[in-house]
Amino acid sequence: MSPFRHACLFAFTVLFGGLPIAAAESQSNIVVIYADDLGYGDLGCYGSPVIRTPNLDRMAAEGLRFTDFYSGAEVCTPSRAALLTGRYALRSGMAAARRVLFPDSKGGLPPAEVTLAEALKDAGYATAHVGKWHLGIHPGSRPLDQGFDRSYGLPYSNDMDKKPGLPQGSSGSPNPPADGWNVPLLHNGKIIEQPANQSTLTRRYTEQAVAFIREHGQRPFFLYFAHTFPHVPLFASPAFKGKSRAGIYGDAVAELDWSVGEVLATLRKEGLAENTLVIFASDNGPWLTMRDQGGSAGLLRDGKGSTWEGGMRVPGIAWMPGRIQPGVTSEMASVLDLYPTALVLAQAPQPDKLALDGIDLGPLLFHRQPLPERPFFYYRGNELFACRVGEWKAHFRTQTGYGQAPLEVHEPPLLFHLGRDPSEKRDVAAAHPDVFERISRLVTAHRATVVPAPPQLN
Ligand code: MG
Repeated sequence: MSPFRHACLFAFTVLFGGLPIAAAESQSNIVVIYADDLGYGDLGCYGSPVIRTPNLDRMAAEGLRFTDFYSGAEVCTPSRAALLTGRYALRSGMAAARRVLFPDSKGGLPPAEVTLAEALKDAGYATAHVGKWHLGIHPGSRPLDQGFDRSYGLPYSNDMDKKPGLPQGSSGSPNPPADGWNVPLLHNGKIIEQPANQSTLTRRYTEQAVAFIREHGQRPFFLYFAHTFPHVPLFASPAFKGKSRAGIYGDAVAELDWSVGEVLATLRKEGLAENTLVIFASDNGPWLTMRDQGGSAGLLRDGKGSTWEGGMRVPGIAWMPGRIQPGVTSEMASVLDLYPTALVLAQAPQPDKLALDGIDLGPLLFHRQPLPERPFFYYRGNELFACRVGEWKAHFRTQTGYGQAPLEVHEPPLLFHLGRDPSEKRDVAAAHPDVFERISRLVTAHRATVVPAPPQLN
């Protein structure tokens, strides 16, 4: 605790008899750092031999590193909707055949959704969004409409708003034109720069995040820090450009790693580390069709856009020194679990009427208790493509991330054992009809609870 915060709480105790202190002290801060298109194999602590990520490696060494952590969906928009609502994106209408929001989309995250920011704000938290939003630009869907006190970042992906005449393939270039995209930088909903200077975005995002943390030592806070990179087009500030073995992709990841280090160092300096849960994850797998400018899914199959493991299994690290014992876990978890986990740490009620799809990870994070076995559902757009329970994963449909191969419908489904075959190479469905029957029952039960909301992305 910072000396100032301590002094304030002491004064509060004297004035009000001490009761509010317990509440204030027991509400932990929540920081979610969400990378964009970072692959399972792109960090040192996940086996990258070419990208140096000392800060994330240290975060993993001091925290709990997940081997089996999933993003909310296979691409940006539904993945972010899932994180902030705690629900599969189909439930909020944020998953559709057109897979993400574009600048011309009429829809966005519906105001009726209770975002994590809204739930935590109701519990007394200060809330900030820094980075990419991609959940809607129209009234009702914007960060300040969805529970954030402040917001600084891009309204959607950095490869949207292409300038006329921009040559095909520019976004995947190792040296993209700085003025090729007219994407604006917004501060609390107002355009402050257009086009955004992408080379300094990570640094400026980090300054905003650090300032927010410093200003809120006395009050519980929620920081949703959604990086623009390593989504193409790739840029890095001069301090990082040209320094990585892995080209501009590695430079961008190295700068993101620096940013994580700054956030954690600020929490330590302010005396907040022991009372702040920090989660690091990625919104989907690497964009493999960008070749050298796309990342690596390591040993996992395929990448962004697909429901093979490489599309949705991502780095996942939880950090809270003194509360989370360092280690590695193979328990399955996903960003859907962050919502209920955060509400427990905030001592906030779980929203009634809303179907949440995740569970509180507290027993695993703080007591190393195994989580109950539960299914995870892989959607591509608004279609359920696969289901995992335990080590088993059944694919009902498969398609490569960006349509390089046609859709395949599998009857009977493909079945893989992710423990013995993490790369999904050997279909063993014929030998395990009992497993498929079990998964089939889980899928039927899941479908019965999912009421698709009006699609927002078309
Ligand atoms: Mg993404």
